[in-house]
Amino acid sequence: MSFVAPLLAWFDDHGRHDLPWHQPRTAYHVWVSEIMLQQTQVQTVIPYYQRFMQRFPDVASLAAASQDEVLAHWSGLGYYARGRNLHQAAQQIINQHDGKFPQDFAAILALPGVGRSTAGAILAQAFNQPYAILDGNVKRVLARYFAIAGWPGTTGVQQQLWQQAEQLLSEVPTHRLADYTQAQMDLGATLCTRSKPRCQQCPVQATCQAWQTVQVASLPSTKPKKTRPTKQTCCWLLRNKQGQLWLQPRPGQGIWGGLYSLPETPLADPEELNLAMFESAVESLVEWPSLKHSFSHYHLMMYPVEVMLDVTLGDSIAIQKDQVCEGVPNYAAALDATGSWFNLPDALELGLPAPIRQLIEQLQAREA
Ligand code: SF4
Repeated sequence: MSFVAPLLAWFDDHGRHDLPWHQPRTAYHVWVSEIMLQQTQVQTVIPYYQRFMQRFPDVASLAAASQDEVLAHWSGLGYYARGRNLHQAAQQIINQHDGKFPQDFAAILALPGVGRSTAGAILAQAFNQPYAILDGNVKRVLARYFAIAGWPGTTGVQQQLWQQAEQLLSEVPTHRLADYTQAQMDLGATLCTRSKPRCQQCPVQATCQAWQTVQVASLPSTKPKKTRPTKQTCCWLLRNKQGQLWLQPRPGQGIWGGLYSLPETPLADPEELNLAMFESAVESLVEWPSLKHSFSHYHLMMYPVEVMLDVTLGDSIAIQKDQVCEGVPNYAAALDATGSWFNLPDALELGLPAPIRQLIEQLQAREA
């Protein structure tokens, strides 16, 4: 019992034989469909593919169109570099191959936007040539079938997968290379799915190593999570005699752009905080527990410090910037003239970053 024979038998009965790029299955049709399918599901691609083919039925019509028109037909599919590459590749086929789609692996691979798997899919499906493919579905099927551990995005795992994919080709009857290519994609899309694979209905279950070793749920290995760096900041809860809080708008660009927030400085050594040049206006200074906020690219550790200032409502505190001791972070260094004093309930009506809102709510709860 092998992989290829039961897969082909299953494909004859259960495979997808009515996809629009199968009629006719020319290199042009396979190529356009493969590019569209690179980041997009089959059901989404079908109407785009049909509209694209109505307007650009062959390489010549695609090459002669303007890029704007090609992208207009791509609009909604996303990843527009695919559309631009398709257009450029059509012009390359006209200029370098007399308008005939190349049948040579190296020449197809040289087309913009075509990688090893897409080149293999075109050659196998349009020209019935023995080339392997390794798209997302097939990677998952083979990683499970051969129980290959490791994230398929790594070079080592990819090499193992390509090796297995190419070895399997020797079992494929030469007249069935196109069907075999489609069968692998169909198995991955319909049974050997990312979540809840239907192994009980799978034609290759008897020889699947992931099934035999109870590793189906853990293969293929997921992408290792990147460790996000941690940044640190000292944020200042400045209070005046009326119990108001100083808030200032953040710059329009960058994190929390345009929201009101606390003045911030680089993190000071706690020792240094206490020794810092606080002016006579400071009545008390209390370090709050730190809090952590995570962005997609980094974590932010926030160290709040509450400072009671001997200033009243109308006093500007920005003048104290003059007294900043060079090199020692303190609140005055972070003050912005666009800020102002807010009563706590009014502050909570402003657009605030979530952790800043949390701090103000804590202040309000304490003083209620
Ligand atoms: S038995 Fe399950 S894990 Fe193995 S190839 Fe079939 S569907 Fe995938």
